[in-house]
Amino acid sequence: MPEKKIWNEKMETLGREEVEGIRLRRLRKQLKYCYTHSEFYKKKFDQVGFSPEDIKTWEDFRKIPPLMNKDNERESQRESIERLGHPYGIHLCCPLEKIVVATTTGGTTGFPTFSYSFTQNDFDRWNEGVARAYWLSGLRPGDRVLFCFPLSGAWAGSIVKSPLLSMGILCLDMGAETPMEKIVEYAKVIRPNVLMSTPSFAENLIEAYPKIARRPVSELGIKKLLLSGEPGVGIPSIKKRVEEAFGGKWNDFLMINSEGFSSSCTTKDYQGLHEVALDLSIWPDDLVDPDTKKPIEVRDGAFGEGLITSLDREGLPLIKYALGDIIQVFTKRCKCGYPGPGNRIRMIGRLNDRLSIGGVSVFPIVVRDVITSFIPRVTGAMRIVLTEPPPEVTPPLKIKAEYGFGTEPTQLLGLAREIEDRMLQLYRVQSKVEFVPPEALGRVTKKTPLFEERFRQ
Ligand SMILES: [Zn+2]
Repeated sequence: MPEKKIWNEKMETLGREEVEGIRLRRLRKQLKYCYTHSEFYKKKFDQVGFSPEDIKTWEDFRKIPPLMNKDNERESQRESIERLGHPYGIHLCCPLEKIVVATTTGGTTGFPTFSYSFTQNDFDRWNEGVARAYWLSGLRPGDRVLFCFPLSGAWAGSIVKSPLLSMGILCLDMGAETPMEKIVEYAKVIRPNVLMSTPSFAENLIEAYPKIARRPVSELGIKKLLLSGEPGVGIPSIKKRVEEAFGGKWNDFLMINSEGFSSSCTTKDYQGLHEVALDLSIWPDDLVDPDTKKPIEVRDGAFGEGLITSLDREGLPLIKYALGDIIQVFTKRCKCGYPGPGNRIRMIGRLNDRLSIGGVSVFPIVVRDVITSFIPRVTGAMRIVLTEPPPEVTPPLKIKAEYGFGTEPTQLLGLAREIEDRMLQLYRVQSKVEFVPPEALGRVTKKTPLFEERFRQ
């Protein structure tokens, strides 16, 4: 039997008009369901002055302002712990006993949120959306995955791997906390051809592998790198470095708060994340201005803050959830030939991370891009040093970077000047680079910090 081109031939090949019909029907049903099944949503809808019956068209829905974000989601969860004795939030729409999967986001910032909690139907829906994304990114039955997400047992990592089994894919779940020696030992016998981890973990493995195995990491034979959880794939220099070191192709995938199923495709040059499940959530067709929260027209190349709305979700549906991420949307067809009607996006950065340097708006991702482009003269590890509370930064932007193993101290002054010049040329940002020895910034298994916040010390 010839290999299927897409995971769900029926739902992923619908025309835009047809899928919009399905979405509007499901949206109206979801809004009514939330209004009648949760005090949280009833209050929110009443506050902004609409009733689910008012929503007859997509445009009606677009006019509703954002209703949720990470902060009020956390508040909702805190309130349900105190008042109702469960951690899911007062926006829970189903009886408690229907929740069969409860995983957290790991709590890298603040109290962990139980956003990745599902009823059986929600879990099936999740596995379906994720499988579509994995298939598009090139995972196939028979693949062997080295799975190294942080806290993969309790964290959302455990559900990130759950679709693999139903796809006929072997998953060696090591977690990112396992000592690197153990990971290398197991990997050498299982011979994975796929690595699933954060971009930071992949970068750490490139450095650690030769020290442990005395061979380059490429000997592992990993040909597919499926990375998520941090920006990285959008940074050309990091992508190039990781692909060259492993000898494989880097793809990224995204499922924010168990919605917005997307992954990049297998074209040689990065074309952004394809939306693969228009029937399961509204994303990324609902964009707002990050400052005014007013709707932005979704046209090719538009920037904005993405909003997510669940369709057909029972337990913890999200309605008009403001992600806090700036995305860029592409509406033109991708050259990969994926037949789905969805748009593509590129993650630009967390709204909270955005800096204003002498009036120039900059995301930390661009600083990493510039630094990484100087490897091997630098290791790639860096921090942005903040001496005053963000987002305002008085120029120059202070950057701390590790110089490379082979870089002589006499070369550092010239190297700093080159990096500063490139920051200015590419991003109009005045910067000041300070060097520290290789590995002085340490290596972490969770998200690599972007900032060193000196104003807090
Ligand atoms: Zn594509």
